[in-house]
Amino acid sequence: MFSCSQPSPRYEKSLGTICFVNLYKQGKPAYYNEIFNRIDQINTEFNTYIEAGDLYRINKFACDEEVIVSDDVFTVIEMAQKISALTDGSFDISVKPLVSLWHINTDSPHVATEAEIAELLPLVDFKNILLNPEKKSVRLLKTGMEIDLGGIAKGFAADEIAKICKSHKIHRAVIDLGGNVYVYGKKAKNELWNVGIKNPELPDSAPLIKIITPENSVVTSGLYERFFEQNQKRYHHILSPETGSPVENELTSVSVICHNSMIADALTTSFFVLGKTESLKLLPILQETFNLKISAVFIDKDHHITFSENFPYEYEILYDDWKVEGSN
Ligand code: ADP
Ligand code: MG
Repeated sequence: MFSCSQPSPRYEKSLGTICFVNLYKQGKPAYYNEIFNRIDQINTEFNTYIEAGDLYRINKFACDEEVIVSDDVFTVIEMAQKISALTDGSFDISVKPLVSLWHINTDSPHVATEAEIAELLPLVDFKNILLNPEKKSVRLLKTGMEIDLGGIAKGFAADEIAKICKSHKIHRAVIDLGGNVYVYGKKAKNELWNVGIKNPELPDSAPLIKIITPENSVVTSGLYERFFEQNQKRYHHILSPETGSPVENELTSVSVICHNSMIADALTTSFFVLGKTESLKLLPILQETFNLKISAVFIDKDHHITFSENFPYEYEILYDDWKVEGSN
């Protein structure tokens, strides 16, 4: 409940999810308008179906010619490429033809056949995305290639909203773009934020884990979010660029915590593909490359919760039938 003296938070459907922003007492309509106009702009640029947008133009024309894009789209593709290189292609925005084949995130998903996958797999390779930083242009080197920024764009948007908060000297804000959370500023004087990580088995109930943190981005990707079932088998939305099918491993939820929501977003998707062991090995390299404190929480299907080494935040586990590995 919000008292009369406190303006309501605002939420809107965009970026393929519900975008929620709370600016608390400083929540002037003008600030919310600026934030949600920016979200709309990002949605137009990044949505593969909006004809006026850059992603639509890349996917339609970049196999034949260089396509000049906005600074936003260029920045995000550049970061995606960096993360692809660091994760040995586990994160790969050129998975789009496979995303379309599986009809992921639509009302009519389709279980792809081996033959269908085999036909499209040669189109998936981030090394065939060519960027020209001077011209801010994109080229796709193989006919039929397409890109999809669904695994990174919400993180970029969260960072952009945090920048707007900073520009207006907002004291505190919660930004939640469908699991892409940014807690900005201080919750109250010297008080830390509590950010919940959902219970993958009970996503609509109390969170499984409460992370107690200063300003941070906490991004979670869970298999409970977007999936479909056919013949008792569950197919979800994170694809292995190697096999062309939804990733199948021990994981059911991955959270990444760091100050850069775009990096955190791309890493949740990457870590799903890499699995827990490989992701934990990669973390120190990522921290060094980005000169950023990056932490992670992995939730396994068999009720194990793993915190990355030297996990720097306090946390609480709210259910008692889960085993914890690693600690702070
Ligand atoms: P969510 O959008 O639910 O927060 P993610 O951030 O993990 O989840 O992004 C998943 C989306 O990223 C998929 O819907 C798809 O568009 C795209 N995607 C799927 N697999 C990959 C991959 N291996 N690399 C990059 N993007 C991917
Ligand atoms: Mg992601």
